[in-house]
Amino acid sequence: MDIASATVVEVLPFDGGGRVYSYAVPVALHGKIRPGQLVRVPLGRSSRLGVVWPSSQGGAGNFSEISRIKPIQQLCQETPVLSADLPRLATWIARYYAAPLNSVLETVLPATVRQGVRVVVEKKLSILRRLDATELEKLRRRAPRQAALYDFLARQAGAVERAGALKQSSAGSAACEALVARGIIGESAGQLYRDAYNDELGEGEEFVAATPPVLNEAQQRALDAVHDALAAGRFHAHLLHGVTGSGKTEVYLGAIRSVIARGGSAIFLVPEVALTPQTVGRLRQRLADAGTRVVVWHSHLSAGERFDAWMAMARGEARVVAGARSAVFAPVKDLRLVVVDEEHEPSYKQGETPLYHARDVAVCRASLNGGVALLGSATPSLESMANVHSGKYGMSCLPARVDDRAMPPVRILDMRRELLHMRGPQRVLARPLVDALRARLERREQSILFLNRRGFARMMLCPDCGHVAGCVHCSLALTHHRSNQTLRCHACGHTAPVPSSCPVCHSPKFNGRGAGTQKLEDALLSVLPQARVVRLDADTMGRKNLFREVLSDFRKGKTDILLGTQMLAKGLDFPNVTLVGIVDADLSLHVPDFRAAERTFQLLVQVSGRAGRGDRAGEVFVQTFTPGAAPIQFAKKGDFEGFLEDELARRREHGYPPSRHLIRHLFRGRNGDKVAFGANGWMQFLEANLPPGLVEMRGPAPCAVERLQDQYRWNAWYFTDRVMSAVAHLCELRARFTFPPDVSDVFDVDAVDVG
Ligand code: ADP
Ligand code: ZN
Ligand code: ZN
Repeated sequence: MDIASATVVEVLPFDGGGRVYSYAVPVALHGKIRPGQLVRVPLGRSSRLGVVWPSSQGGAGNFSEISRIKPIQQLCQETPVLSADLPRLATWIARYYAAPLNSVLETVLPATVRQGVRVVVEKKLSILRRLDATELEKLRRRAPRQAALYDFLARQAGAVERAGALKQSSAGSAACEALVARGIIGESAGQLYRDAYNDELGEGEEFVAATPPVLNEAQQRALDAVHDALAAGRFHAHLLHGVTGSGKTEVYLGAIRSVIARGGSAIFLVPEVALTPQTVGRLRQRLADAGTRVVVWHSHLSAGERFDAWMAMARGEARVVAGARSAVFAPVKDLRLVVVDEEHEPSYKQGETPLYHARDVAVCRASLNGGVALLGSATPSLESMANVHSGKYGMSCLPARVDDRAMPPVRILDMRRELLHMRGPQRVLARPLVDALRARLERREQSILFLNRRGFARMMLCPDCGHVAGCVHCSLALTHHRSNQTLRCHACGHTAPVPSSCPVCHSPKFNGRGAGTQKLEDALLSVLPQARVVRLDADTMGRKNLFREVLSDFRKGKTDILLGTQMLAKGLDFPNVTLVGIVDADLSLHVPDFRAAERTFQLLVQVSGRAGRGDRAGEVFVQTFTPGAAPIQFAKKGDFEGFLEDELARRREHGYPPSRHLIRHLFRGRNGDKVAFGANGWMQFLEANLPPGLVEMRGPAPCAVERLQDQYRWNAWYFTDRVMSAVAHLCELRARFTFPPDVSDVFDVDAVDVG
């Protein structure tokens, strides 16, 4: 049945336990109700806001008898706050990621929109047609309120806010509407949007040139493939595998432009919006003539900005949105394309319920719309490569850098040997790297040094007894911060003073081990005192402006050497950087994660990609204690195919993703024995009740991080080929099982974090 003419519709109230309820459409609203609209409905004894839900997406519907159905109390606004595909997407996420539908909806809909805080967007009023003296006289006689509003507006320089104008002229909205209807004044929303992007670029920073470059052959071929898919009007997922600096962004921009030209919408996902002002700038500049606004969707938006941007998309006024993870839910109309840049980035996986992966949600959303998902990376995830191999995704390759700029040669420095002839505080940087840095200073070129840590020293280690200073709430080593002489836990924030001797054996040699960015800075300044060095790490990252200033200064050449943590691996483009040094390449190799090799390879390749992006050739130095490790060797050669083959074989052998799906089941509680007891009991229950052959179970066992924020953590692993069916069975059984009262649990489907 056509929902617009329905007299009973389904509504998903917020905080209603994720259930859909039926409501009657009162006569006044007949023909006006559409899915995705925000409405107020009675629920129990209270009234709630909720969203009109398409009737086929009932999920856990609750069909009461027609006579007992209560009516919708209020339609908050005409424009649906969800585009037509979003309810279906939300339902899919709830099923796939085993999350309650209301938590999904809370993730999809920003709080300001959900609360209907400002259900009417502020509008501006301005005079459209000036009245002559007789007309004005007549208006004053017949409709004094309209005249008052007219007079007020006539005195203003331009458009003014509707609410303010009505108040100051003491005119009601009826008077306003009458004037609008007669074409005397105009009502517009267009210029009103607070534009959050304008403060995104630092002072003096410039946009990249607006004219698109002529695409090279490989770029054109990739774009043609996307165009073909768009023209076919059928769902298609496409992986763009292009080495760093190969011009992937130009392919994205070309695809977005043609989508806009055909009246469609596009979503552009980036792993971290704060790090990609360049990309966003390029997007805006290149689409400036396309007749649409580019919305930038990120966590720094104020509630008002968020509301405005959301509604502009919902009304179809903004057809391009760029943002991190949650931009995948943008309510744009006629979605034709979702671009996922750096699709391999783990930051696309959300860390709290619903534990969705934005890349996979992007693919699902494209499929719901018969559109295209374009995933790009220099180091595609093994999951995406497996989808290419199985024929689910198409693939285009950009094998060379733009203008055939050389990939930088990678030199491996074996720190086991280098350390033998290193002395004093500079024991962090090997001689060849120091020489290369000095050469850059002399040539007035820039360098980036990359470190996979933050703080002064990674941890406090006793060389005599091996004791490591750990957090009292988490089973994690504390990080030494020299600036305020504290030990800090990066999981829970616990801080402690630095002990002068080992608390276990009282050795005075108890000391910091491993180099942090601060220590690296000291080492650098002791060998290259003339260098202008800046640091960029999680500590500086917390301060938005500082972060931007550091990057802006570096871009302008005010600093010579940029030190930082893995965030530098993501998409920064500085043409004058000709040297990249990776100080501790193996660090990410020694973590208990089956993706450790993949992460290390990605990190090395991405970081190397920051060198030699301009006219001058670049060079990369990699310091490591395990120079023979496969990811380091493959990264040195820039051999993605070799790495892929090697790593896929290893994953297959152990049954890890992408050969199968992996569901993590995490159990938490303050009492370790109860957690273990609950986890074990559940596993026995599962074994007795799961259909045989559906999942392979491993565990339960304590997590790698056994204690976090005073919670003991255990987990179990479920490997499966049939993930939807496995999740459905797990959820159904979970509903029948009771854990000890203070033990909580959560399923993490396609887990990324395995610690
Ligand atoms: P990627 O995203 O693959 O790392 P980019 O799209 O950032 O690469 O391109 C790298 C640089 O090359 C950018 O400065 C971009 O403007 C430039 N570029 C891209 N395509 C072309 C082209 N066809 N001709 C000339 N310059 C190009
Ligand atoms: Zn000791
Ligand atoms: Zn802690």
